Amino acid sequence: MNLSKKKVDLALECPFCQTQVETSDHLFLHCNISKQVWFLSPLGLRIPPSTGLDYWIDKMLNVGDSYGSQLFSVILWKLWSWRNRVVFKKEVFIPQQVVNEATEWIHEYNISNPGKGEHRAIGMVEGSEGAKHATTMVHVDAGCFEDGTIAMGCVMKEANRGVFLSATRKIAMDVDPSMAEALALRWALQTAVDLKITEAVFHSDAMSVVDCINRLSFNAVLEPIIVDCLGLLESFSSAVCLYISRNCNMDAHKLVGIGHRVGSRTWLGEPSSELSIVDFPPCYR
Ligand SMILES: [Zn+2]
Repeated sequence: MNLSKKKVDLALECPFCQTQVETSDHLFLHCNISKQVWFLSPLGLRIPPSTGLDYWIDKMLNVGDSYGSQLFSVILWKLWSWRNRVVFKKEVFIPQQVVNEATEWIHEYNISNPGKGEHRAIGMVEGSEGAKHATTMVHVDAGCFEDGTIAMGCVMKEANRGVFLSATRKIAMDVDPSMAEALALRWALQTAVDLKITEAVFHSDAMSVVDCINRLSFNAVLEPIIVDCLGLLESFSSAVCLYISRNCNMDAHKLVGIGHRVGSRTWLGEPSSELSIVDFPPCYR
C-alpha cells in the first residue's frame, strides 16, 4: 500500500538535508550531512558516489580491523537514531556530535568488554590511507570596521608542513557581520580551489553561516553567497565546513586585524614578523 498516495503525511525527503529523497543509500552514505559524519570520524572516509549500502557494509565489516568495523557499525546505528531524533523530536543534527557519540559509546563499550575491540590504526579503505595528512585545515574569519571596511583573514595548514599560507583581504563595504563572514568563507574556498587543494576542512566561527552551508538553517540575504560556497565545495574531492569557537580560530581572527591595517596581502607561511599582531575591536553594528 502506498501511504503517500492516500494522503497520509509522509515526509519522503531526507530529514538531514531536505533536498533529496530519503533512501537508505542516500541517508547513510550519500547525503551531504551524513558524508560529513563519515569524513569527520576517525575513519576519515570519503564515500565514492556510486557505492551502495549493501556493498559498503560488506566491505567495512570485512576489513580486518576490529575497531574500524566497530566504529562503522556504531556510526550507522547513530545515523539511524539521529534520523529518528530529527524526524520525531525535531532535534538539530550536528555531524560532529554524532561522531562524538559514536566514539564515546565505543570507548565505554570497550572498557567494559576488554579485548573485544582493540584500537588500531586505520588504513583500511582505498584512499583513506594518508588522507588525514593530505587534508588541508583552513581557518577563516572576518570583521566589520567603523571606517566602512571589512577585513578577512585566512590561514591554511597541513599536518606535515604547518602553516603554508596566510592571507588577508580588505574591502570597502558596508555589510553586517554574518555577510562579511560568508564573503570570507567564499574567498577562502576560492583560494583553496585556486591552489588545487582537493581535501579540506574549512573552519569558521560564524555559526549562522556554517549552518546555512550545511543546510541546517536558511538566510535569504546570505543565500546567493551560500550557493556560491556550495558550488565551490563541489570542486573538492572531499571538503566540509565546520563551526568552531572563536577561541579556536585565533590565527584567522588575528589576521583580520592585520588585514585591516595592511590591506590585501598573502604570505607563504606565517605573516612576516614586522607586523606586530595586535587584537582589534570589531565593530558589530
Ligand atoms: Zn540528505
